[in-house]
Amino acid sequence: MQVLKFGGSSVASATNISRVLDIVEHVALEDRVIVICSAISGCTDKLIALGEVSGEEREAMLKPLRQQHYDIVTRLFTGMERNAVKAELDTLFEDLLNAPGEECQTYGELLSTRIIARKFACEGLSTLWIDSRTVVIKDNEARTFSKIASSVDKHREVRIFVAPGFIASDGQGHVTTLGRGGSDYSAALFAAAVHASNLEIWTDVPGIMTANPKDVPTARTIPVMSYTSALCMAQHGAKVLYAPTVLPAMEAGIGIRIRNTFDPKNTGTLISDIPSPQVCEWVGVSSLPAGDDERIFLVADGPIDSAAAIARAASAFRHAGVSALDTGESTGFVYFDVRRAIARQALSAIHKEFFEFPSLTKLDVYIAGCGAVGTALKELISTGIAKESGKDLSIVGFSSDRSFVDTVIATAPRHSVFVDCTDSEDIYRKYVPLLEAGIDIVSSNRRSLAVPYVEYTAMRQAAMRNGCFLRYGTTVGTSLPMLQTISRSKASSDRITSIEAVVSCTLNYIFSSGRPFAAALRQAQEIGLTEKDPSQDLGGRDALRKLLILSREAGVPLEAEDVEIEPVNPDAVYEPNHRFVASLVEDSGSALGYKAQIKLQKVPESHPAYWLQGTDNVIIIRSVFHPNPLVIQGAGEGAQQAAASILNDILK
Ligand code: ASP
Ligand code: MG
Repeated sequence: MQVLKFGGSSVASATNISRVLDIVEHVALEDRVIVICSAISGCTDKLIALGEVSGEEREAMLKPLRQQHYDIVTRLFTGMERNAVKAELDTLFEDLLNAPGEECQTYGELLSTRIIARKFACEGLSTLWIDSRTVVIKDNEARTFSKIASSVDKHREVRIFVAPGFIASDGQGHVTTLGRGGSDYSAALFAAAVHASNLEIWTDVPGIMTANPKDVPTARTIPVMSYTSALCMAQHGAKVLYAPTVLPAMEAGIGIRIRNTFDPKNTGTLISDIPSPQVCEWVGVSSLPAGDDERIFLVADGPIDSAAAIARAASAFRHAGVSALDTGESTGFVYFDVRRAIARQALSAIHKEFFEFPSLTKLDVYIAGCGAVGTALKELISTGIAKESGKDLSIVGFSSDRSFVDTVIATAPRHSVFVDCTDSEDIYRKYVPLLEAGIDIVSSNRRSLAVPYVEYTAMRQAAMRNGCFLRYGTTVGTSLPMLQTISRSKASSDRITSIEAVVSCTLNYIFSSGRPFAAALRQAQEIGLTEKDPSQDLGGRDALRKLLILSREAGVPLEAEDVEIEPVNPDAVYEPNHRFVASLVEDSGSALGYKAQIKLQKVPESHPAYWLQGTDNVIIIRSVFHPNPLVIQGAGEGAQQAAASILNDILK
């Protein structure tokens, strides 16, 4: 024997009732079934209101309710049957007009089950309607069980029993109810009485969920849970199950399945006597009003370390910008009192922390260039640090070979990341083919970006067209947020009026060393600061590349020819307080609207570059929103810094 209970929305229309019929008939092929139904949704509320009035007023309130039931009957039945069912309902409506106020609410289940029992009978199934008012005795389970058992036993020929949920009689034989939502409990009583092999509660949600999906859209169905945690959730605000339902099923050892009438393939939640786990398993989160506030319950199976849980929740709350007024624990749960106004945010925060585990996105990384930066990046990635950002990076290629990039284009899966840590002049020609192959690019090679403007645009467009990214935040100022600051200004309609970039590590080093130029240069070369050919630094080539990249980021289509360069003369004797400054300044006289220069300048003490130390870089950005400049200063080179910055570009 199986017991199937259908809630109010499952019987709320002829279409829904047809679903119920399908579900029940399917089970009835193999087993005898007891079907318990609620009143159609909203009906009990209306009946309670109706019970508070009488006479014509009650008659008026009854009218739409009667019509609602008639409509269902009209759609489900034809001819003689239709009239017979309507006549049966009419008797009930007649009684309802004169029923004592508190009894009115018991009619909803009588109406719905009458219709459904008739429908089964029409389908040719041997069906019997059982009057729950005579077999369910409130607060007396022993009597209830024996009454149900004997009324079922008497009818071995019957395949489908249909009984109203919710209603019962008290010890004195008066009609009563089992409390709001009580049909679930009726079903458990029937199941326990007949030792049913299965108890299913069919409702309009896909089972008991990790949170109420109306509050937390990311909530998901709990596939299996223990009786105790189901009871705990039901007692503390999970509306999907009426709490008293659990005990009779548990005592009789019958599993309870919560299923969705509107998605019958889904197996929903099974509540059964699964053994309690050795370590704490979080089950779900529910909430209940507590005065003007809301109390949130975080329910667990197994032993709870409540101090740790409360601390974890507190940090989740902090992240969400909310806080709890009070916290505490009890058997099977910890709780948090929060202001009603933030209850949803708090529920979401707790749910996210305890029930949402973002799956790691796997990313294949190909690194071109086995120099200091490439090697530092390889080491950084292998620490697994990216997992904290939800990415599982694996380096599948690491090479300085020129043919490497062609192999990547031919074999790498889409949305792998190609990292250019070379200083190749012509590798950029492979960027468009890489992007066309769906491969994302991160570059620390500024030569690849300081190409003619048309080529630069072609690469950026290829990235857009293919839904890929081309990121090169490391190319100016290494890990200092120079490019991103400029692109953010531009993206938010701020207009850059000037950029002064003191971004040549070699020259900054030389000028802050306090030593004669030639000697300091030799030292810079020795420690590997300069480009391979130091005239690239002194002649301003390196600064030029950086200025091109900066300007284009600001939306100025600068070309190398537009820049006025005064190279540094290595044989000259320079006064102190000089800096090699690359600048872009708004200038209505120039065709571009900006004047671009790279030259040695004497900087006054008031200039941010005056205080530069060692190889540090500084950029001074003036814009409409920042007429007093925005200054970004700090270490402008280093393999570790570069690797960190590249990783950020990969993860962004
Ligand atoms: N119809 C009753 C109520 O709304 C019982 C139930 O639906 O379980 O409370
Ligand atoms: Mg209900």
